[in-house]
Amino acid sequence: MSIYKDKLETKLIHASSNPDIEQKTGAVNVPIYLSSTFHQASFDDFGPFDYSRSGNPTREALEQKITELEGGVRGLAFASGMAAISSAFMLLSAGDHVVISEDVYGGTYRFVTKVLTQFKIDHTFVNMTDLNAISNAIQPNTKVIYIETPSNPCLNITDIEAVVEIAKEHNCLTFLDNTFMTPLCQNPLQLGVDVVLHSATKFLSGHSDIIAGLAITKNEELGKRLAFIQNSFGAILGAQDSYLLIQGMKTLGTRLKQSSESAQHIATYLHHHQLIEEVYYPGLSFHPGHDIHVKQSHGFGAVLSFRLPNKEIAKAFIEHVRIPVFAVSLGAVESILSYPATMSHAAMSKEEREKRGITDGLLRLSVGLEHVDDLIADFEQALQAASQKAKAQSL
Ligand SMILES: *Cc1c(COP(=O)(O)O)cnc(C)c1O
Repeated sequence: MSIYKDKLETKLIHASSNPDIEQKTGAVNVPIYLSSTFHQASFDDFGPFDYSRSGNPTREALEQKITELEGGVRGLAFASGMAAISSAFMLLSAGDHVVISEDVYGGTYRFVTKVLTQFKIDHTFVNMTDLNAISNAIQPNTKVIYIETPSNPCLNITDIEAVVEIAKEHNCLTFLDNTFMTPLCQNPLQLGVDVVLHSATKFLSGHSDIIAGLAITKNEELGKRLAFIQNSFGAILGAQDSYLLIQGMKTLGTRLKQSSESAQHIATYLHHHQLIEEVYYPGLSFHPGHDIHVKQSHGFGAVLSFRLPNKEIAKAFIEHVRIPVFAVSLGAVESILSYPATMSHAAMSKEEREKRGITDGLLRLSVGLEHVDDLIADFEQALQAASQKAKAQSL
């Protein structure tokens, strides 16, 4: 009880606002600290938090969680996967050069080609499955090799340790987008990578509800520099979304295990279907890179792509499929079918796309948690309709 007789207006603001009450409740869930600023107890000594762009307790709980999961020293949460990726690139300076996987995520392609170039940071795209091509692309000013494995959407596999070795020879950092695998299936920091990036919008949150990104560094120095950029640039994840992401991550293990198991069944089913020209899934023993993937990862994930003969046939399939949602994104409880040519890779010219195998018949599937028998039955009937279309075309 206060000895002061504050007026109602004052009480309205100050009553029951003990800043650490949550720490005394034993709440099982991390509280959502919706506070932009934090009271400093004394003139001289500031507490652990001052302003939520610089640090927020809910976000910090998330950042500590992902740091532990990836086995890093510093984790940082951003407003989106692209915010995490872009912020990591801000570790570079004008005049630097990046060697980057040619089948990188469309948004990363856009950032590197359209934004980084404005700041005089140059790039060379390479086929990351070809180690000689990587070595040949390195210039005296190359500072980062940027990896995505398995890649999007053709699931190409990069030998992480081999690339790290090339990078070390040339004093470059390695960044790796680990969105498709999550720390459950792949731990790039243990393989020598310097910065791991995630679109947490996907498997980590898992429910198609939030946009979020994470970056985890291997050492303290990079962690400090990236935290400085996070605070300076300011593309932080809000407290509510940090809470939702923590909640989503709690079920990642069960979700990813089930979805990956279903993906393996579906990939095998599609491989045997006569209308399908190609299936891309690292869990298929004949997938190029399967052996490298097995060496460096544990599990094959829940994303696969498959090629139908052309756009009209892909369209007929999409129009008849019943269960998956037709949308961009991946990694959710609901299966998601997407059409890379006009969705994830719309930023790329047709010529660039086709060079990367992203033809007009290519579809990407992110397998959710529906019963796999229902999904396969659904694909069976949609492929029948697509086969009719194919027959009509050849007439
Ligand atoms: C979605 C995605 C991104 C971008 O993440 P956002 O959260 O959409 O900004 C980056 N990399 C990969 C592999 C993705 O799938």
